[in-house]
Amino acid sequence: MIMIYVILFIAGAIAGSFLNVLIYRLPRNLSIIRPPSHCPHCTNPIRFYDNLPIISYVILRGKCRHCDHKISGRYPLVEILTGLAFVMLFYKFGWTTSAYFYGILLVYLIVIVFIDIEFHKIPNILILTGLLCGVTLLLITTPRNPIDAGLGLLVGAGIMFFWSVFGRLLFKKECLGGGDVKLAILVGLYLGLSGTILAIFISFILAGLVGIGLVLIKGLKMDGRLPYAPFLAIGAIATIVSGQPIINWYLGFL
Ligand SMILES: [Zn+2]
Repeated sequence: MIMIYVILFIAGAIAGSFLNVLIYRLPRNLSIIRPPSHCPHCTNPIRFYDNLPIISYVILRGKCRHCDHKISGRYPLVEILTGLAFVMLFYKFGWTTSAYFYGILLVYLIVIVFIDIEFHKIPNILILTGLLCGVTLLLITTPRNPIDAGLGLLVGAGIMFFWSVFGRLLFKKECLGGGDVKLAILVGLYLGLSGTILAIFISFILAGLVGIGLVLIKGLKMDGRLPYAPFLAIGAIATIVSGQPIINWYLGFL
């Protein structure tokens, strides 16, 4: 049994190294097929033995073999996270349509989060293809009721749109961007109505706590904007891992 988790982690790490290519190239408008992986500093091609997920980073001690240029720690981090995501989904859902369905969402979230952190934008192509994958899977395998998915999408977009307008009036500044509304649409489709509300609720609490913490600790000015995608991604993961028990517990009070 442990072997299947090891294989899944390796498969996830390999998928993660492709996600790294997307994270680097999509926001720079570079082709995702050509040229093959190369060092962005000295442009020497990266040989396959230097391109093994996680392992190569450790062996090369985070530096390019040719020019000693530092390789971003994001590369092994994305590979580890994707590996863990694969393991978690199998542990939670086994070989079910839910595992594939949520797997696609998590893969998209990883790419979107790391692009949002670095570039403060979310490429439309990711939202559009993510929605297309979700709708296709909903129609073919029905991992969730399509009406529930549609409601999640609408309510997710609605909450974010309301908050972006309300936040601007309240704080006299941009709290959420258009990218955040688009991301809530994507998350809403995959999580359905109750899951979306829970994920957004968790994300708002986390973003609020981190925002206040940064103001207190670093004296960060209130006009410094946090990228919101990481918080919604954490909310979505928490919902996938333990959403139904939390929702049932909450509904028990009503
Ligand atoms: Zn180099």
